[in-house]
Amino acid sequence: MSHPTAPLASSRLTLIEDPSPATDGLALYEARACSLCGEATTLYLTPEQGYRILTGDPVHEVLPEADPSVREVIISGTHPHCWDRMFGPADED
Ligand SMILES: [Zn+2]
Repeated sequence: MSHPTAPLASSRLTLIEDPSPATDGLALYEARACSLCGEATTLYLTPEQGYRILTGDPVHEVLPEADPSVREVIISGTHPHCWDRMFGPADED
């Protein structure tokens, strides 16, 4: 296992829209563009969750309840379905 030489946290999410009453106080963030299809995913997070991810807290600690595919999109931008299409479904073994 090698460690990244530069922190990735600051480039994970981009704030698209500030929280507002219309979004129940959630902020809209955009993840990185998917390296396979080129489309970036947008997602709603609480401002605290977004802040913690942007400041480098591990995504699985910020969003322990989130689906692993959601966490993967936040971390890498890569859609699980794109990954499967490219490399086949992950082997559970
Ligand atoms: Zn994709």
